Amino acid sequence: MTAPSAVSAARQILTSLHEVMASRSNAQTKLNSVVEAIGQGLDSEVCSIYLLREGMLELFATKGLAQEAVHVTRMDIGEGLVGTIAETSEMLNLAEATAHPDFSYRPETGEDKYHSFAGVPIVRRERAVGVLCVQHADPRRYEEVEIEALQTVAMVLSELIANADLVDEEDVALLGARQTGPVRLTGLVLVKGLATGNAVYHQPRITIEHVMADDPAAELSRVYLAFDKMREQIEKMASQAEFGVGGEHDEVLETYKMFAYDEGWSRRIIEAIETGLTAEAAIERVQQRTRMRMRQIDDPLLADRMHDLEDLANRLLRIVSGQMGTAASQGLRSDTILIARNLGPAELLEYDKRRLKGVILEEGSLTAHVVIVARAMGIPVLGRVRGLRSAVRDGDALLLDADQGNATVRAAPPMVEAFEARFAKSKERQASYAKLRDVEPFTKDGTRITVMMNAGLRDDMPALAQTGADGIGLFRTEFQFLVSATLPARERQTRLYRDVLEVAGDKPVVFRTVDIGGDKVLPYLRHNNGEHEENPAMGWRALRVALEREGLLKVQARALLEAAAGRTLNVMFPMVSEPWEFDAAREVFESQRNYLKKLKKPLPESIRYGAMLEVPALAETLDLLAPKLSFLSIGTNDLTQFLFAADRSNPKLAERYDWLSIAIMRFLRRVQTSLVGHPVDVTVCGEMGGRRLEALALMGIGIRRLSITPAAVGPIKELVRKVDLPELAEAMTLWLAVPPPSLREALTEWAEARGIEVD
Ligand code: PEP
Ligand code: MG
Repeated sequence: MTAPSAVSAARQILTSLHEVMASRSNAQTKLNSVVEAIGQGLDSEVCSIYLLREGMLELFATKGLAQEAVHVTRMDIGEGLVGTIAETSEMLNLAEATAHPDFSYRPETGEDKYHSFAGVPIVRRERAVGVLCVQHADPRRYEEVEIEALQTVAMVLSELIANADLVDEEDVALLGARQTGPVRLTGLVLVKGLATGNAVYHQPRITIEHVMADDPAAELSRVYLAFDKMREQIEKMASQAEFGVGGEHDEVLETYKMFAYDEGWSRRIIEAIETGLTAEAAIERVQQRTRMRMRQIDDPLLADRMHDLEDLANRLLRIVSGQMGTAASQGLRSDTILIARNLGPAELLEYDKRRLKGVILEEGSLTAHVVIVARAMGIPVLGRVRGLRSAVRDGDALLLDADQGNATVRAAPPMVEAFEARFAKSKERQASYAKLRDVEPFTKDGTRITVMMNAGLRDDMPALAQTGADGIGLFRTEFQFLVSATLPARERQTRLYRDVLEVAGDKPVVFRTVDIGGDKVLPYLRHNNGEHEENPAMGWRALRVALEREGLLKVQARALLEAAAGRTLNVMFPMVSEPWEFDAAREVFESQRNYLKKLKKPLPESIRYGAMLEVPALAETLDLLAPKLSFLSIGTNDLTQFLFAADRSNPKLAERYDWLSIAIMRFLRRVQTSLVGHPVDVTVCGEMGGRRLEALALMGIGIRRLSITPAAVGPIKELVRKVDLPELAEAMTLWLAVPPPSLREALTEWAEARGIEVD
């Protein structure tokens, strides 16, 4: 047979399928007609359809094999050529079927006279639910166009199967586990903890409902429009800050752009529509083909690019099908482990907290805001997991071990049992921390360490009583802005601050004025006039924005002043780089206070002003600033990124520098000692304070106040009670003067020798 062109082979078969599908006959009759049509279209002596039933692949229809074998011949998954295709979800194309090691002969089918064999999986929701195959007496390999035609037909069959309920969903789930078996993925621990749940993709993959088009011209215009819209979206993402809505990086955006304008890609999609497919099916068809080709090339760089193309094809599919929302907008149905390349903090906050049990990211870093939010929500996060999206399918059962940095997909029962035992132990341990709730953290030598918690949402507040923290050392007010669709009005701000103070009771709350910009982008506030920033973390953010957009700060000042009426208001300013910025921000508050006074509004009893030390330059002028300060809060997340010139959101740098580096510890000690003698409370409020070893080091250089993530309050209180401060201070002094090869190792040994457990 001479191979027809790809377009005409597929078109011919699709035209006859169109009639079959539109007929009012039952599913079995349709399947019988399908095998006839394909057999004819591909000039093949045999064409058969096997479908999953009760865990086996059953011959449902055939042209060319013995009809007595229909509903009799059954293959196990992995058995014979058909079972192998279902198990691996990969096609086979063989000139001599019997030569294949998995060949298994079924006498009842009478297939012994056929030599060549080609088969493709019939896929539904990313899982093979059946196999479509053709056989021929001549020993020849099928042409690529014929395989492609088979794959197109397999898509049509998948729709028929779904509509006619020919395959049991439970069978599919079972098969899912058998198709690839367990896979262990490893990554970087971003938020510790254990969780189980089903995988849900943040950007849901689209299930194609209609494969065959009634009006190809209409499909063409839909796809043209979708391409335009997709290109527009990408241009827009690229013009926004580095961490746009989807959290994509520049590099990824460049690749997106390259594919979005790739003539070859759009041409192939258009050709597929010309064969009679819907726009959705055509996009998927082209994607399948690309996937198949890429699989044959073993190159990690190409594999990464393949993910980008998958992202983009999925985006195009979502545009074309109008299914634009993330998984959050569709609602979570059961305990969920969220799968994404990256997320923005606002996107994470859209999820139902009761069902979201864990997050696995392909990217991510310890101090990215999405990770801070997850930590505040008590949701374990594993980041930097390579190959995540190829190993995990939507709905897969997952065991997330973000204590040890791994996740198991489709775990076998003994693994599940072992995991559950560990899970129970870890819950016990959490319960033991809960016992420390009312215990004040004194060191062995009798020094009281203040252990406060970081918060940002109303939902965080119950943790204050649950952990017994000494107060809120950092309330990130911008979180309210991040979760709102529009700029929160003053009344809403006041209400939140008042509620927070109410819940806190006698415990202090330190409100930080909005820190937007950087990776905290507000879609509704074009704070940067829409201009692209090369380095948003060092750009127009935090106090820099607030002082320029005085209206924003004024409104917030008034909301805070009114909310704290009759109490002490603790307010601090982020990213202060020079003392005048502190003065200017303070002045906004003072003038609002005077204004309210004139209106005879109730006022706070007192206001304590503080600054965050996040910009290294401020350390050089602390002597000038200290007399004006009630407190200084060291934000080690930003401070260390600026000390090392290492972007805190860049996954490539996530593990490069250690908080326990001599540079950081010497710097922090210098700041701490420069304030000795001033009546200024010094707190560390960055993530490092919540890690046991880092907290030890901080205590060792004289830090007595920590504000940390709520989940760390218990563990840090327990740690404090085991520490002899003079002994620790002596060790730290020595190490900072004569650094050991690794401060981390030295401190770990020191702690272990004293029975102090570290992370
Ligand atoms: C910090 O920078 O350390 C800090 C606490 O602020 P944020 O993480 O919100 O930037
Ligand atoms: Mg900061």
